[in-house]
Amino acid sequence: MRTFAFARADSVERAVERRQGEPASAFVAGGTTLLDLVKLDVMRPSRVIDINALPLKSVERLHDDRLRIGALVTNTDLAYHPDVLADHPLLSQAILAGASTQVRNMATTGGNLMQRTRCPYFRDPTAACNKREPGSGCDARDGFNRMHAVLGGSDQCVAVHPSDMCVALAAIGATLTLQGPNGEREIDVADFHRLPGATPHLEHDLDDELIVAVTLAPPLKPLGTAYVKRRDRAAYEFALASAGAMLSLDEDLIGEARLALGGVATKPWRCHEAEALLAGKRAEIAAFEAAADVALADAEPLSHNAFKIPLARQAIVRALRDAARVAREDNA
Ligand code: SF4
Repeated sequence: MRTFAFARADSVERAVERRQGEPASAFVAGGTTLLDLVKLDVMRPSRVIDINALPLKSVERLHDDRLRIGALVTNTDLAYHPDVLADHPLLSQAILAGASTQVRNMATTGGNLMQRTRCPYFRDPTAACNKREPGSGCDARDGFNRMHAVLGGSDQCVAVHPSDMCVALAAIGATLTLQGPNGEREIDVADFHRLPGATPHLEHDLDDELIVAVTLAPPLKPLGTAYVKRRDRAAYEFALASAGAMLSLDEDLIGEARLALGGVATKPWRCHEAEALLAGKRAEIAAFEAAADVALADAEPLSHNAFKIPLARQAIVRALRDAARVAREDNA
């Protein structure tokens, strides 16, 4: 195993400062991604900065009623937080559909946003992988690509973004607060994860910065939500296709709809056109199927993953149907 320097930070400013001049350094909190990848020799940090002592472990309700989540709130604490359950049940549902209890107890909100792909070639230092080593090629394109993306890929990379939590954040809408050497800035979660394009090794819009908080958009009212995840086994497995849906209903007409996909795209995938199609329509299967067709219109299967398109379609229809049922109950 390669050695690395280790440092602890007791303030956000100090954590960012410790990163300066060490481009290969990495922050560690729960360590559920970083330590795996260091052991596999996929990530080779020159310095690891422990940020667990930073005061970023609370969920606060802001004066405008939005929820602000500290980057070190664990996935377990977030999923069961009463304000999250009340305002954003989709976030709770998505988190609890992912990983295991043990991993959720360690994994943090900021770390989940920074989660790396599960592409097996990325995790194998002997394979060609543009994301791990720019310009080396992509063994997945002509290899075993059953788990890979049908949306948002490029000839350089077709790796799926693995997070369930981030699918919920994409549907809900959120603002990330980042702290860098030149101060704080905010970025829409939709702009944080990059498409691979010609630079798959650049995964996030980050510039030597630390994620300090995630502020959620206000909830729809009345609200129905559902997260449907299709995978090879019922627990502790990544999505083959998932759909997070939010609907508000006026009688049986859809007021506003939000839809995002996981397991099928290179980043958490918001479906704006499908949402626009749903607005004002009767909440029924025909509308949900039409929305699913629009959401997947640009899907391009690889040699082993054409099955993901009908699987995602089914997940979308099921999520919208279940969200409508919950919204009707909320209206009653
Ligand atoms: Fe690497 Fe992306 Fe190709 Fe996987 S799909 S081998 S992560 S370049």
